[in-house]
Amino acid sequence: MAYAYDDQNIFAKILRGEIPNDTVYESAHCLAFKDISPQAPVHVLVIPKGAYVSYDHFAAEASDAEIADFSRAIGEVCRICGLNGAGGEGGFRVISNAGPHGAQEVPHLHMHVLGGRPLGGLLA
Ligand code: C5P
Repeated sequence: MAYAYDDQNIFAKILRGEIPNDTVYESAHCLAFKDISPQAPVHVLVIPKGAYVSYDHFAAEASDAEIADFSRAIGEVCRICGLNGAGGEGGFRVISNAGPHGAQEVPHLHMHVLGGRPLGGLLA
């Protein structure tokens, strides 16, 4: 399957420095920044720097280094934000919307990292 990437999407502009962002963490292959419309006390978006539309695109075409870096970036954001998912207090949710059924608004892969309050049942 061929994936079409629109380099005029808002996260591509953020990556090019054309639009400001509130950076939480940056690595070789990823950027993490605060969501402009937070749905929880902690709401951070983790995006790869590569041009990937969605998670399935990323999983199909990203290098092992990019995939490892992305996975670690999500963990770093959880650590930096004190979300403490390893038992005890706290915890978090990581979600990625894809395509029309997933209600994806921005066509550049992003993981939402949410926490800082009880989030309720996912399908409630
Ligand atoms: O997963 P989905 O594509 O629906 O989410 C896009 C997210 O990007 C929204 O949570 C929105 O608030 C966020 N956003 C942002 N900064 C922008 C534009 C959108 O944080 N400039």
